[in-house]
Amino acid sequence: MESPRPFLSTLEQMGDYDPNSMPVEKARQFIRQFLTPLAKHESIRLCNALHRTLATDIQSPMNVPPHDYSAMDGYAVRHEDLTSAPTVLKVVGSAFAGHPFSGCVGAGECVRIMTGALIPEGCDSVVMQEHVQASGSSVEIGEGHRRGQNIRLIGEDIAQNSTVLTKGQIIRPAEMGLLASLGFSDVTVYHKLKVALFSTGDELQEPGTQLAPGKIYNSNRYSLLGMLGELGVEIVDMGTIRDDKASLKEALLDAASRTDAIITSGGVSVGEADYIKQLLTEIGEVVFWKIAMKPGKPLAYGKIGTCHFFGLPGNPVAVMVTFQQFVRDALRILMGQQPRLTIEFQATCTSPIRKVPGRTEFQRGILSKDPDGSWTVRTTGTQCSGILSSMSKANSYIVLPASQGSVEAGSTVLVQPFLD
Ligand code: AMP
Ligand code: MG
Repeated sequence: MESPRPFLSTLEQMGDYDPNSMPVEKARQFIRQFLTPLAKHESIRLCNALHRTLATDIQSPMNVPPHDYSAMDGYAVRHEDLTSAPTVLKVVGSAFAGHPFSGCVGAGECVRIMTGALIPEGCDSVVMQEHVQASGSSVEIGEGHRRGQNIRLIGEDIAQNSTVLTKGQIIRPAEMGLLASLGFSDVTVYHKLKVALFSTGDELQEPGTQLAPGKIYNSNRYSLLGMLGELGVEIVDMGTIRDDKASLKEALLDAASRTDAIITSGGVSVGEADYIKQLLTEIGEVVFWKIAMKPGKPLAYGKIGTCHFFGLPGNPVAVMVTFQQFVRDALRILMGQQPRLTIEFQATCTSPIRKVPGRTEFQRGILSKDPDGSWTVRTTGTQCSGILSSMSKANSYIVLPASQGSVEAGSTVLVQPFLD
């Protein structure tokens, strides 16, 4: 009989699995084990395809260029006529881009040709206009010309039936142009991922209202709306849910029944009213709930039925860091996208940083390029996980590995520039 919790039994077979303090890289690998791209496809108009994900490989239905074209303004010739240079050839017509020469070029003849015009039948080379002496209806051509010169050959950019794009490619402006150049007006893409979002916390109030004593404005809802918006998912915004077990359970079950992934903020730490983890164990499965990172230690990942669950911490900076370091790539995999390069490099850190070994830290950094071309970075100042202004000042993360202790000013550190 099938195990009622196939998810957890797979985990148990993986060894050295500690849901209480998962190293950053291991947490990424664990999440990846459970992510299968959405299977559903749809065909959409190419003009609406920006940032969507290709669901099929694309084979070119044609050669690009589709024929041999002139790469220069000059004269289309038969190379064999040039063997006894200098030669005088009779100009029998002209060819312009979009207006080909319709006849066949015979011995001793040539055609005036412009860049982008079809090479006339019978010709095999183009001589640049700068290299001929034109007089009346004939031209004199000297020696030193190569057969096939100045011609853009059929299929030289893309050969018919070759694979030009692969499944999982994000459609960027270049892909829109490329697909159009092959004649595609529609394209098959993965369905948009449907992501439910809600915040938890009785202290939360919406911006635009008068703040009551003891309350704070809900900022996570908006930073998450922004980060999800950049990914191009379909957001089901469920607002704020009270710290009440029954309401949270109802919200989780409702979200799981109609979305592919749920993202919550708050309620995953150990406070009395933090029910999310308990509930997830009850109605789904939890893979882990603590990561050895700072900020963002409480981060729950699990599943409710087929729906993926990411329980982010409540602290506003921790929300953004955990989303960017874990959730974004996980959602991209679910969206069918090919993995992206993480851009990171070494820079000189001009501020000292206090750190105790044990957790990977993502400090907010201000990265700049010195006049000599070298990169330096400094921290934004206090790194408490509630100081959201640090995310706004920053343009990069300073990534300090778990084993690292304090950093002296002038040392080299790893930086990840913000790309979005
Ligand atoms: P929690 O993980 O629920 O214990 O929340 C940790 C901290 O983050 C608390 O100080 C909360 O008030 C704060 N917090 C939780 N959710 C939000 C939110 N949506 N916007 C701003 N701050 C929040
Ligand atoms: Mg809370």
